[in-house]
Amino acid sequence: MVLKKEIVVALAGNPNSGKTTIFNNLTGANQHVGNYPGVTVEKKEGHLNYRGYRIKAVDLPGTYSLSAYSIDEIIARKFIIEQKPDVIIDIVDASNIERNLYLTTQLSELNVHLIIALNMSDMAKNRGIIINTEYLAQLMGIPIVPTVGNKKKGMTELLNAIIEIVENGVSLTPVQVSYGKEIERELSKLNDIISTDSTITNSYKPRWLSLKLLEDDAEVYKLLKQHKSSEQIFKEADKSKARLKSLYRENLSEIITDRRYGFISGACSEAINRTAEHRHDVSDKIDYVLIHPISGLLIFAGMMWLVFHLTFTLAEKPMEWIELAMASLANLFLNILPEGILNSLIVDGIIGGVGGVIVFLPNIMFLFLAIAVLEDTGYMSRAAFIMDRIMHRIGLHGKSFIPMLIGYGCSVPAYLGSRIIEDKTDRLVTMHVITFMSCGARLPIYVLVCGAFWPDKAGNVMFSIYVLGIVVAIVMVKLLRATRFKGLSAPFVMELPPYRIPTIRSLLIHMWERSWMYLRKAGTVILSFSIIMWFLMTFPQKKTYDKDYDALVKLANHSFSSEKITLSERDSLITAYENSRSAENLEYSIAGRIGKNIEPIIKPLGFDWRLGIALISGFVAKEVVVSTMGTIYGVGETDEGSEALRASLAADPKYSKLIAYAFLVFVLLYVPCMAAMAVFLRETRSIKETLFQIGYTTALAWFLAMVVYQGGKLLGLS
Ligand code: GDP
Ligand code: MG
Repeated sequence: MVLKKEIVVALAGNPNSGKTTIFNNLTGANQHVGNYPGVTVEKKEGHLNYRGYRIKAVDLPGTYSLSAYSIDEIIARKFIIEQKPDVIIDIVDASNIERNLYLTTQLSELNVHLIIALNMSDMAKNRGIIINTEYLAQLMGIPIVPTVGNKKKGMTELLNAIIEIVENGVSLTPVQVSYGKEIERELSKLNDIISTDSTITNSYKPRWLSLKLLEDDAEVYKLLKQHKSSEQIFKEADKSKARLKSLYRENLSEIITDRRYGFISGACSEAINRTAEHRHDVSDKIDYVLIHPISGLLIFAGMMWLVFHLTFTLAEKPMEWIELAMASLANLFLNILPEGILNSLIVDGIIGGVGGVIVFLPNIMFLFLAIAVLEDTGYMSRAAFIMDRIMHRIGLHGKSFIPMLIGYGCSVPAYLGSRIIEDKTDRLVTMHVITFMSCGARLPIYVLVCGAFWPDKAGNVMFSIYVLGIVVAIVMVKLLRATRFKGLSAPFVMELPPYRIPTIRSLLIHMWERSWMYLRKAGTVILSFSIIMWFLMTFPQKKTYDKDYDALVKLANHSFSSEKITLSERDSLITAYENSRSAENLEYSIAGRIGKNIEPIIKPLGFDWRLGIALISGFVAKEVVVSTMGTIYGVGETDEGSEALRASLAADPKYSKLIAYAFLVFVLLYVPCMAAMAVFLRETRSIKETLFQIGYTTALAWFLAMVVYQGGKLLGLS
């Protein structure tokens, strides 16, 4: 069959309105994920064939509005304006309809073909909200299709509505919110001026531009600047704004917002009936307990404890399996390849590098599963709401709590998650302290060091490090707010969506999407850096060793055959020789030389060059610090559970508990890994901020570790 045409359909809607669910229903397995140009926001596309058309669907980022406050909003808007999709499906959560229609009023100001998918209509019914959809469609001037995303209801109707628009054009025209006589007068003045420049009107609707000018939309100002009539337009806009300002005491954009809500509440009160007995519904009752200042906080703390317990305990077994699998893979290559550089590259560089990342996948998957449950049930908004009381006192936004929580798993998704914070300053401040929420990859280092120096109290010592991270984060927020990022954090506006029982499928999708993001980082950045690091740690190769290891091995073999030593004694002798040989090699390598050269810098912290090398390798990925230490201490490639490494650390006369603690402090605070910094750069799009992050964390780590070591020495600890 010949396809008639391709139809591009964009799905817009508030977060949690069921956009992704409907997108999945429509496109099934025919999806692929890319990025919007120039930013790291995921762009999901899929397609299906229907009634002879090929329909391409795009899942836009979820937004509450189309102003230019967040990257997501800018992206969604850009896509709609620049790509001009044939139809936009606006997914509206019927159980929360007033809030959701706000986005609709803004979409209808753009020149687009709109269909409302009135989703969650089951929830609305349960809450006693009875919507006269036909009447509401008349009032809004937009066709409405009721849907229940998780039950796949209404999908055919939705598709038919799309085809109807494409084949027969629109039967309704979206109503325009009227902003009142005064504002309307200024709008039409601006309209007239803008309309004279056809280079502008070719791509944009003049009324929309005028409105955005009155709203002080920075993006629109930027975009108009490129046109020659911009000077005149801006002058007129300034005049209009001045006039309106003298009329209204309030902020102009607030009045515009009010008008939109006013329009919505008018339309809703006409077309919606609420049965009185349902007004105080279940969600409200649950909220009475869950956002209560005392019980809410206690439950929140309990929830977080549960999340972490589940994440770390459940992940243990699969992590062991992965370790085993990686070890046997390494063994396989050790056996089939001749000893030499290639063997070392594959086993140490590639398998070691990738393995060190994949091993954290269970942790991350369980953490993200837990976060998906919190988000999809609606609890996450309550958590942010509860936390806002505390976070605001610190100087952060309630929403900052969410990326910071994710930061305990891995900074990479945490930086990505910071995007939910709309205010730029709030977002940057949050991003600058996320690293102190000690990421999962640092944990093995703590386990190793604490196990070696505090075998009975390892847990307590580790806990103190996590607490220190929080304290440092709070102090740093205060400092950053007082210096580089002056001003208060943005006021808290977040709705409390109704509670919902999530579907397993959507939980799994959310979990998988984020875990995949982490894996991709493993596949690309970390792998390449782990190869670079392998190179630095392997070359140049040592030709003559301090000891003649070959002769020593021969001697051991000889002693065995003349029955002076047992087989196991011979084997452990040979392993010891091999290990010292690699230790000598490492010391001789480029990395070893760098480590030795920075010794004067880290001496005040009590560290020697061996710790220096380990810390340098940690910039690539915190995962490799432990295995680097294994090599340096001549016990071979190893993990945090290695008895041999633990014993040789504890027995080393150069180290003490004090140095060990200074080392823990340094590991907690110093620069996040390269992969995290790459994401940081992409998210902030600022080299300056990225360099600042790298520089200040490392300086802080040095300083506090120095204070611990020197202070401890003064107090007579050692
Ligand atoms: P998005 O943030 O807009 O992409 O929302 P999702 O598609 O991830 O959906 C959020 C949650 O709502 C998921 O747990 C879905 O299973 C659930 N959901 C989606 N549509 C409906 C619906 O019509 N009724 C109900 N009760 N739940 C829904
Ligand atoms: Mg989604």
